[in-house]
Amino acid sequence: MNANEYVESVIQKVEEKNAGQKEFLQAVNEVLHTLTPVIEKEPKYMKHKILERITEPERQVMFRVTWEDDNGEIQVNRGYRIEFNSAIGPYKGGLRLHPSVNIGIIKFLGFEQVFKNALTTLPMGGGKGGSDFDPHGKSDAEVRRFLENFMMELYRHIGPNTDVPAGDIGVGGREIGYMFGTYKKITDRFEGILTGKGLNWGGSLIRPEATGYGATYYLMEMLKSKGTDLNGKKVALSGSGNVAQFAAEKVAELGGTVVTLSDSKGAVYLPSGLTKEMWNGVYETKAIKHGRLSEWAEKFGVDFFPGKNAWQVADKVDVAFPSATQNEITLDDAKMLVDKGTIAVVEGANMPSTLDAIKFFMDNGVLFGPAKAANAGGVAVSGLEMSQNSLRLQWTREEVDKRLHDIMVSIYNTGEYYAKKYGHEGDLLLGSNIGGLVKVADAMIDQGIY
Ligand code: NDP
Repeated sequence: MNANEYVESVIQKVEEKNAGQKEFLQAVNEVLHTLTPVIEKEPKYMKHKILERITEPERQVMFRVTWEDDNGEIQVNRGYRIEFNSAIGPYKGGLRLHPSVNIGIIKFLGFEQVFKNALTTLPMGGGKGGSDFDPHGKSDAEVRRFLENFMMELYRHIGPNTDVPAGDIGVGGREIGYMFGTYKKITDRFEGILTGKGLNWGGSLIRPEATGYGATYYLMEMLKSKGTDLNGKKVALSGSGNVAQFAAEKVAELGGTVVTLSDSKGAVYLPSGLTKEMWNGVYETKAIKHGRLSEWAEKFGVDFFPGKNAWQVADKVDVAFPSATQNEITLDDAKMLVDKGTIAVVEGANMPSTLDAIKFFMDNGVLFGPAKAANAGGVAVSGLEMSQNSLRLQWTREEVDKRLHDIMVSIYNTGEYYAKKYGHEGDLLLGSNIGGLVKVADAMIDQGIY
């Protein structure tokens, strides 16, 4: 069997075994198709059945979460934790709270996380979890009661050297706090079982900023490769949550103009850019009050376009910076972005571009920064939070930011290096996938057959 036949046969088996898990199958297709060149040159990966093993999670936990709402009514949700791969370190990856969450979404995120964590240079395996609980419109007490019940099951599966979850969509500082408190009450142990903790109780400076800042540092490397930078560039950001907020802050700081933001209900267009005062308002509305972008738009006298996405509302876009959710750039969106002058796409969200959109970008010479590389800054600083917890120290803001910056440059260089080594210069998707694979696969081979 040649490398191509091997890859196709594994994809077929994964499709048979995981029918209906469309996001997971999309992620497997995206990754495996880029691995053919390394499988061809390194037959050991086929011999050790690395692709069959790396696409099968080590452990999948699914559980019932029962809680009582403010009206005294009992509610039932489903919780997940997928421990995907621990070859290079404890499982690490966020928890997502969103009504769309299902096993296929958590598996796609966990699978991507394995490669992403390997690229950070830090010793972290890959995992992901969450629930179909919808935090929108819930009171603070309801969120807390849900999370207490969620942690009553999750606590037995995690540990500072086993599995260390973090935030993702719907999980920020408030949610991490409630889960950490519950874990401590159940186990009587104060230990680093979650990252994204509050600064007074084991959190790292720059963790909230890390994904957005990191993706912007990565974007700077992409632009540098073409002899340019962010000065004067119009940047269309989607989302208005954690990643979008800090991407917006860093883009503006480095000379770019943030022309759009969005949420699940619609988008805003800011032809003159997002000012510092407007940014403060977004942070307050979304991160502190857990409100809607439309409320912010009303307060700042900005037009809100219900049902539109960020790509549709802007006139001209130099850089597209998707930072909301998966599959938010379809082929039609990609065509529209190229028409609007887009020269670079940097993925702040996980798998925001569909496979045909990615192909269209690449075929049209658009610089493409894949999620698992570009948004790895969040998990990288989570890794630094774990190091600080082990040392019982807290590094300064400057120290963490410098380490984040160095890691993002290294991730960029890894992608560039492997793309060139395997004959696809400039293809950061292929280069990053191979870079992540090589590290994890070699560790799996070293550790025997399990
Ligand atoms: P948040 O919950 O803070 O923000 C999510 C944003 O995306 C909100 O504006 C939300 O709108 C919007 N959104 C969510 N779902 C949809 C949808 N189906 N359609 C349109 N908009 C939607 O999450 P994060 O900022 O943390 O995460 C954003 C993305 O970045 C995700 O893909 C996540 O996996 C990825 N990521 C996050 C990391 C982190 O450190 N937080 C690390 C690496 C990747 P609304 O408020 O209306 O729901």
